[in-house]
Amino acid sequence: MTEKHLNVLYIEDNHDNRKLVHRVLRAAGINVIGVVDGIEGLAFVEKETPDLILVDMQLPEIDGYTLTARLRKLPQLKDIPIVALTANVLKEDQDRSFAAGCTGFIDKPINVDLLPQQVQSYVSKPLEDN
Ligand code: MN
Repeated sequence: MTEKHLNVLYIEDNHDNRKLVHRVLRAAGINVIGVVDGIEGLAFVEKETPDLILVDMQLPEIDGYTLTARLRKLPQLKDIPIVALTANVLKEDQDRSFAAGCTGFIDKPINVDLLPQQVQSYVSKPLEDN
């Protein structure tokens, strides 16, 4: 991982979504490390600390709420934004996400025009050109 670009860990079981987010953010100068479930996500953060974590709330193995709560408890992620990427937009879903430790939300379906700015809005580091 380079220092210059934002590094985003994206935990998502859907291959098409991983591909889309990777392409859209990469074009905006943001590095995306895609992993398929919470097991891989937890393994990743043992080795490296991303600038931001995007979490799909509907995941196999460990659901997004449980996963977020586990990530949030890790000392190295204390100040790292964890953003839910979810179609669960009801107030009760949002409350549940915040209770688990989410910093905020990005709605699905993903808006490719807005996504880079949405991600950027959760971090203080400026966007770099390619
Ligand atoms: Mn999913």
